[in-house]
Amino acid sequence: TTPSLAAVAALSRIRQDVRGMHAYAVQDSKGMVKLDAMENPYRLSPALQEALGKRLGAVALNRYPDGRVNDLRQALAAYADMPEGFEIMLGNGSDELISMLSIACAVPDATGARAVVVAPTPGFVMYAMSAQLLGLDFVGVPLGTDFALDVPAMVGAILAKKPALVYLAYPNNPTANLWSESSMAQVIAAAGEVGSIVVLDEAYQPFSSRTYLDTIRQAPDRHGHVLLMRTMSKFGLAGVRLGYLMGPKALVAELDKVRPPYNISVLNYECALFALEHADVFAQQAASLRAQRTRLLAALRGMPQVHAWDSDANMVLVRIQAQGAAALEAAAAKVFNGLKARGVLVKNISKMDPLLAGCLRLTVGTEEENTLLLAALRASLEETV
Ligand code: PMP
Repeated sequence: TTPSLAAVAALSRIRQDVRGMHAYAVQDSKGMVKLDAMENPYRLSPALQEALGKRLGAVALNRYPDGRVNDLRQALAAYADMPEGFEIMLGNGSDELISMLSIACAVPDATGARAVVVAPTPGFVMYAMSAQLLGLDFVGVPLGTDFALDVPAMVGAILAKKPALVYLAYPNNPTANLWSESSMAQVIAAAGEVGSIVVLDEAYQPFSSRTYLDTIRQAPDRHGHVLLMRTMSKFGLAGVRLGYLMGPKALVAELDKVRPPYNISVLNYECALFALEHADVFAQQAASLRAQRTRLLAALRGMPQVHAWDSDANMVLVRIQAQGAAALEAAAAKVFNGLKARGVLVKNISKMDPLLAGCLRLTVGTEEENTLLLAALRASLEETV
């Protein structure tokens, strides 16, 4: 049947730029060893499943989320050891927090110029996507050698563009590295000079050797414009969707005004509270994954056909060795498909950014999953390189 004129006209009401986009594609992972999205590979134990089931069964689903959400805010603040004078707000995943940051800052200046977001690239894709959707200009600043922050370029972009928002993922996705304290300090200081808000995204904190919260705590005066974002996803609850943003009270209070009133479902906050009561279980899982990361890196470094970078997250970035951009891309695609044919799903990020030509991103899994990954990788490399 042909669509009615009204149906066609309705479609044309959707923004041109949106109609030109592709929806975020989640890869089909049925029956696969799923190592594509930095998820925690562990399910709850049967005993915890039963206990959580009872808790969720008793939740009042007929009511809007209530004051219990404040219990969760307090529990998270305690868990993170939030500094004095800070406030915390919750989002339906960090993705929603990023979106709320964009909404709160999306206003042209007196000359009509759009608000700007600056972040190093390659970086987490939602910073750019959220900016684009909400009418801010995204300025990506390429990372330097071995994915270090290019401090002169970052500072130059910040001073020139006077961005509303500067994102620094610490550690970064997909490069999995931390940046040096001194480069962070220089970028944060430059942002302060032009009145930017800096968002430190510590999504991968459970796997990281450092947190910037320690630096903030030592020198709160230099960080009045800095927010710290974390997520329960990498803690082990990606399915629950819960991110949190901490920062100076006055700043968070303003951001909280754009938050939809009931953005955290009653099931989300009950699950998150339950998980925090069992934080030791999740900490143990993170410790196992860090040990598995060490093992994966050692094995990868024994493979002459790949280069593997150090990681402070639950992912390892590898480059398949080849000469030239086209050969790198072809090699990455071939190894990705080889892994897939052997039942292992990773992420091919070779086309995401010129700096990532030939790169695959491997999520660290359980011991068994990593064994399967390494065997499948050896076989796929054999066919390819
Ligand atoms: N920040 C970074 C750096 C990420 O890599 C991700 C997701 N992989 C997120 C934020 C989003 O996390 P959430 O699941 O809380 O939306």
